[in-house]
Amino acid sequence: MKTIKDLNSETISSFKNQLNGNMVLPTDAAYNETRKVYNGMIDKHPGLIAMCKNADDVMASVNFGRENDLLIAIRGGGHNGGGLGLCDDGLVIDLSGIKHVNVNTSNNTVKVGGGNIWNEVDAVTHEYGLAIPSGMVSSTGVGGLTLGGGVGYLSRKYGLTIDNLLEADMVLADGRFVTVNAKQNTDLFWAIRGGGGNFGVVTSFTFQAHPQKTVIAGPTFWPIERVEEIMAWYDGFIQNASDDLSGFIATMIVPESPFPSELHNKQFCAIVWCYTGDADTFNDLFKTVLNLNPVFAHVGEMPYPALQSMFDGFFPTGMQWYWRADFFNKLTPEITAQHLKFGSKIPTPLSQMHLYHISGAASRVGAEDTPWAYRNAKYAGVYVGVDPDPKNANKITNWCKDYFNALHPYSAGGAYSNFMMDEGQERVKASYKHNYDRLAKIKQKFDPNNIFKVNQNIKP
Ligand code: FAD
Repeated sequence: MKTIKDLNSETISSFKNQLNGNMVLPTDAAYNETRKVYNGMIDKHPGLIAMCKNADDVMASVNFGRENDLLIAIRGGGHNGGGLGLCDDGLVIDLSGIKHVNVNTSNNTVKVGGGNIWNEVDAVTHEYGLAIPSGMVSSTGVGGLTLGGGVGYLSRKYGLTIDNLLEADMVLADGRFVTVNAKQNTDLFWAIRGGGGNFGVVTSFTFQAHPQKTVIAGPTFWPIERVEEIMAWYDGFIQNASDDLSGFIATMIVPESPFPSELHNKQFCAIVWCYTGDADTFNDLFKTVLNLNPVFAHVGEMPYPALQSMFDGFFPTGMQWYWRADFFNKLTPEITAQHLKFGSKIPTPLSQMHLYHISGAASRVGAEDTPWAYRNAKYAGVYVGVDPDPKNANKITNWCKDYFNALHPYSAGGAYSNFMMDEGQERVKASYKHNYDRLAKIKQKFDPNNIFKVNQNIKP
């Protein structure tokens, strides 16, 4: 494999002439700013960053990278925990210049650019009273979140993000531009609904949106000492609730603003609710929650984008992040005891553990219908160490690893790929489980030389 330093200046300037967007080299003033990603722990030094403006730029970049035997990374929103939108020495295909959000009101479908971030999409769809199921922090990229699956507030009601993906335009390893959907290039359409950026660079996504202007949402907190009781209750409650109700359960520290001062900097078991039905039914349902005497409950009707961006302010770009994750089939007393242990020693104010329930519409899709293999698991769990200070990098990393190691023996074996760091091939295989071999065959057909390898890699 070559690096940019092995290429002569004519080769680089000829590539520059093909691009509509800019090219950023290590010698450029903009280089250090341009190479940053969301996770401040990632410090990679690409040889060249191609700021693509359209699909032609992406085709030129893929051809340039392949013909010159360069390591290629694809950057969508740049939010990946493991920094998989960047590489050292090679070529970064940056998609942040490929943004558009076009709503087709005749069938509520939405065509979105490969480099959009979710808050740009939500702002437009909300104007039409529509929502696309995505995640829980609106600054996340559409590209990476969608290609990995997409777990969020609307998953129980409308399914994962991939369950609402109707079509994609993409540039393949050989430079071809293709459209994939349920009728065209069906093997690729299957593979990209969970298989990540392994199969090509997606320049646009078309989603099914749903009429959902507002939701009833907000957090409830209980002292961490009650986490075992609350988790055991939640396990039965959410499983039997209608698809309209979702809520992720967390161990966390309550930040100073905007919460009452008596809660500040203490450890809690939290549930952040989202309800898509009518207020009367919700109020009846919520009485059960209030009967559990939360120390704080602030739940009300809000625009869907307000829920999506509720936590954005706590998590600005550039902080230190370390993630570990697993799926779980059940919440046993042995498991909840570990949540009490590790939830009582959260290392920094922003570090958290989340459990997302995989049920409702998300669990009614077959475990082989998309690469997302854990449709039958009950929870996608994630331990997230976060802090603004690089000096705390080890502290947050060790807490996540210890939390993960304590609970991994009780897990379903693999993790949601978008919640993983760069953790090696065995973890990738465990995450795709029975779907891995089919993904590997499709990879062999479309990217036999594995030019798209900076990802949760499927080996051809
Ligand atoms: P990038 O770093 O740009 O890319 C990630 C990977 O996807 C890379 O391998 C990249 O090559 C590939 N990729 C990106 N765009 C494209 C494209 N257009 N074509 C081909 N390959 C592409 N996930 C959830 O499901 N639900 C959540 O609620 C959620 N919350 C999150 C909150 C925060 C604060 C963060 C940091 C992450 C969260 N995630 C969540 C995880 C998120 O889905 C992943 O981090 C995802 O990889 C981010 O996508 P991106 O495009 O921003 O990342």
